Amino acid sequence: MIVERVQEYLEKIEKMKDINAYIEVNKERVLKEAEELEKNEKLKDKPLYGKIIAVKANINVKGYTISCASKTLENYIAPYDATVIKKLKANGALIIGMTNMDEFACGSSGETSYYGPTKNPKAEDRIPGGSSSGSAAAVAADLCDMALGSDTGGSIRNPASHCGVVGFKPSYGVVSRQGLCDLAMSFDQIGPITKNAEDALLLTNIIKGKDPSDSTTVETPKFEKEDISNYKVGVVKEFMEVADDKIRDKIEKGIEVFGDLGCEIVELSYKYVDLALPTYYLINYVEFFSATRKYDGRRYGYRIEEVCGEEVLRRILIGKHISEKEYSGKYYKRALQARNVMRKEMMRILKDVDVIVGPTVPKLPHKLGEKLSPMEMYAYDVLTVPTNICGICAGVVPCGDVNGIPVGLQIQAKPFEDQKVLSAMIAFEKAL
Ligand code: GLN
Repeated sequence: MIVERVQEYLEKIEKMKDINAYIEVNKERVLKEAEELEKNEKLKDKPLYGKIIAVKANINVKGYTISCASKTLENYIAPYDATVIKKLKANGALIIGMTNMDEFACGSSGETSYYGPTKNPKAEDRIPGGSSSGSAAAVAADLCDMALGSDTGGSIRNPASHCGVVGFKPSYGVVSRQGLCDLAMSFDQIGPITKNAEDALLLTNIIKGKDPSDSTTVETPKFEKEDISNYKVGVVKEFMEVADDKIRDKIEKGIEVFGDLGCEIVELSYKYVDLALPTYYLINYVEFFSATRKYDGRRYGYRIEEVCGEEVLRRILIGKHISEKEYSGKYYKRALQARNVMRKEMMRILKDVDVIVGPTVPKLPHKLGEKLSPMEMYAYDVLTVPTNICGICAGVVPCGDVNGIPVGLQIQAKPFEDQKVLSAMIAFEKAL
């Protein structure tokens, strides 16, 4: 059974090669692992038994090339499994391959990969979003059962929204980052990209948990699906205002669904939307610069500055500059202060509601190949980065389409109230 299902996926992956969702699939290896799994009596009762999972190419899976879609690491073979991968395997899952992404997860469109851009399976002339472009495309094109992505400022939620699939970024600390190549370690979280919200709940419960090798992790009780009919659902005026009219229309209809489910809708106001992008990118540049110092050509692959793409180089150069003593007070320290202010304001508005619902991205995905300025590219992230800046949790579920282009509804909640986001995602998906 598992072998047949793997075979079907492999054929489909071959047929839909031009989507460029995967950058590494090892047919012989997967088929052999599928055979072994079928014989493994001990794993038969596990919750993920036989599930076929695609993994973003920045998460270590032993024996695969963890290139982060960069030439820098094109020859780096993972010597070990990341904690999340160990958990997947221990629960009966099978890894089918490594998915395409923006180089080192720096991007919002899936176009900066050294292996070429990914296409959006739901709207093939459009970008799929990023940076977990391949994972979202693999789920949307039915090239796996489910996938893992990583989210530093929206990289799970943005492509989930553009590709019409489900994505979830857990609260910071819920899932171990051990074995994930850092983009900005105070923001990064691994999370599921799936065909439905129930699968996102299932996968989150498997990968979460305290990990002795990641000191930022905490233990949380199992996330259970709960009744949301008594939820207070917040709608943030400023989040709605930055979205295109066509997206806003869809989201407004989505909000009505929560009303129909019995939820009380509460209007909220968040003062610091303007701070989101500068705060996020300043911190991102500094942390990314620091994370890339190990790619100096001695231990791993090439010296990053010599082979990377334009966006990665931009971040390294600016990150270096603003980390220097004479500038750090002016930029980095101020960004940390802004982060605190943003967090406090987010906790204030979340105090009186169970979840906040709204748009995921302010605009529809652009056409593949269309040239955007860095600022235009960053603008995609305005509604997703506050989640990471504030350490809260957020998920995305499909909420209709505009001329065939999917639109995702974003649901956010307080730190460690992941259960509420997941429950609201499940209820919404059923009711839509
Ligand atoms: N688009 C954002 C960035 O480029 C977010 C990326 C991510 O979440 N990995 O940094």
